[in-house]
Amino acid sequence: MTDPANDVADNLAEIKTRIDRAAAEAGRPAGAARLIAVSKVQPVEKLEAALAAGHRLFGENRVQEAKAKFPAARERYPDIELHLIGPLQTNKVKEAVALFDVIQTLDRPKLAAALAEEGRKRGRLPRLFVEVNVGDEPQKAGIAPADLPAFLAECRDMHGLTIDGLMCIPPADQDPAPHFALLRDLAEQHGLTEVSMGMSGDYEQAVRTGATFVRVGTAIFGERIKPAAHG
Ligand SMILES: *Cc1c(COP(=O)(O)O)cnc(C)c1O
Repeated sequence: MTDPANDVADNLAEIKTRIDRAAAEAGRPAGAARLIAVSKVQPVEKLEAALAAGHRLFGENRVQEAKAKFPAARERYPDIELHLIGPLQTNKVKEAVALFDVIQTLDRPKLAAALAEEGRKRGRLPRLFVEVNVGDEPQKAGIAPADLPAFLAECRDMHGLTIDGLMCIPPADQDPAPHFALLRDLAEQHGLTEVSMGMSGDYEQAVRTGATFVRVGTAIFGERIKPAAHG
């Protein structure tokens, strides 16, 4: 018989070992890449299992879902660090700024302006990463690599935003290696320290290429149950 709580704890331990091994293979120090446990659409017992195992770094891709789960969890575990890894609509900026420690999906000028305005009102903002559309896919969110220098300048000069890193989701049907290398090189060129890339199937490769955050869901928690409905 398998206990889902043990499974989550075992998976977390195994993946952290693999991350540190991949970092070592690339001559990077242990702890150079941190594991974001992507808890979206997972039952609350699995989130609880990860918390009980001592894990504190989580990613969610919807503001409403995160709002339903994390304020309660934070009352018991104030050291939770929560990253937004899904698209952010401007009408959710206020809630997102209140809830998340890091917003990884800054991907357009209008959102930069809305974040800056909310930051002025509150006197603080989460850390911000820009999402890069590394595969130049027409349907996908993110700033095209060619447009990144101008967008970063706009964030900084027009809006006074500090950008700490870059995030990407490479094309699903391609070898992620060149996309990971591109994101790392872009971060380096712009003096950005954080690089968020790699998911369940390719996080070790992302770590070897320079990821400082990997975002892993199913390899920790198992297959996601389908959300019942939007809302
Ligand atoms: C769901 C999600 C992940 C995790 O994907 P897995 O394949 O389950 O590890 C990572 N990043 C983003 C942006 C996601 O939406």
